[in-house]
Amino acid sequence: MPMPNQKMNIKKLVKKDVAALRAYSAVEIPCRIKLDANESPYGFDEALKAAALLKTNRYPDPEAKALKKILAREMRVRPENILQGNGSDELIYYLIATFGGPVLYPVPTFSMYGIIAQAFGEEKLEVSLDEAYDLDAAAMLTAVKRQKPKLIFLSTPNNPTGNCFSSERILPLLEAARGIVVVDEAYQPFASDRGFLPLLKDYKNLVIMRTLSKIGLAGLRFGYMIASPEIIGEVNKVRLPFNVNALSQAVALAALKDRKRLKASIRQIVTERDRLFSAMEEIPGITPFPSEANFILFRVAGPDRVYKALLRQGILVRNIQDAVKGSLRVTVGTPDENTAFLRALGKIQKSGRQEQA
Ligand SMILES: *Cc1c(COP(=O)(O)O)cnc(C)c1O
Repeated sequence: MPMPNQKMNIKKLVKKDVAALRAYSAVEIPCRIKLDANESPYGFDEALKAAALLKTNRYPDPEAKALKKILAREMRVRPENILQGNGSDELIYYLIATFGGPVLYPVPTFSMYGIIAQAFGEEKLEVSLDEAYDLDAAAMLTAVKRQKPKLIFLSTPNNPTGNCFSSERILPLLEAARGIVVVDEAYQPFASDRGFLPLLKDYKNLVIMRTLSKIGLAGLRFGYMIASPEIIGEVNKVRLPFNVNALSQAVALAALKDRKRLKASIRQIVTERDRLFSAMEEIPGITPFPSEANFILFRVAGPDRVYKALLRQGILVRNIQDAVKGSLRVTVGTPDENTAFLRALGKIQKSGRQEQA
């Protein structure tokens, strides 16, 4: 006998805002050299040994106390100033669950702010960056004053453009905002300035987000936010009890204890980023944009063709044409990977030009 609800239309049951979403596409494309996801080329596989001491039948520490302690010391805050997430993506989710919208952010930027805001049915306010990819100070300020966003997300250094927003444009927003300002510092370890941590004590509405994903531990899914104990306490109410699993906690802790290695890998990436940038500037038809992160955005004629030609040589970069027209984004890899990328890109540009000539 057919079940009476066999013909049910599931899509009609879904909330309108969710039905209109497209799932974040994180398809894996096979390649020899993976430079598409802003991962570090340097892992901490030694730290995996720490997982061997765990008991699988026990729940993880719900407060991630050991991790908070080491992070607090590093950042000169108290453990009460820190909240742990299953990646900082989860913290974006929690922040929007806690404070709601409108949610204001500049574009182009990290896509999860908009996706999560929409998943919650919150109003999204998008303000274009200026032609230098810095904040449009006047337009942002107008949006803050007129629409009173509950949350403002600023990724600095910004993904996918790579630059830091100028702090002279961020500070007036912090002052004018009647909501929370989240400074997403996923790429701060690669930047030349110190970021916004020193301002925490001056601004009650400031939240700083960090992650271990871009510095060699993307597989663990561990992100954290730093804010006043009052903000942490509120967001903690929506956090799922055991959101960071025991394996991730143990391995992250072991990796963070290896401070020397962590710092050295970051230094190496910064050195390579600067070499990559200079070399890209020399390739005809390539316009790289200066970066404070572990990736470089570059403009090129026929980005789809160049993307495919690179992939044919086994090199995967990110095609971000829908966010930044005419541009691709390459993650800094090992010296050998970067050299292979430069060679391939040089060759592609040379042959492309000959075809056009
Ligand atoms: C990669 C990235 C994140 C997400 O980090 P996870 O900790 O891996 O969830 C957050 N913000 C920005 C700007 C990013 O580029």
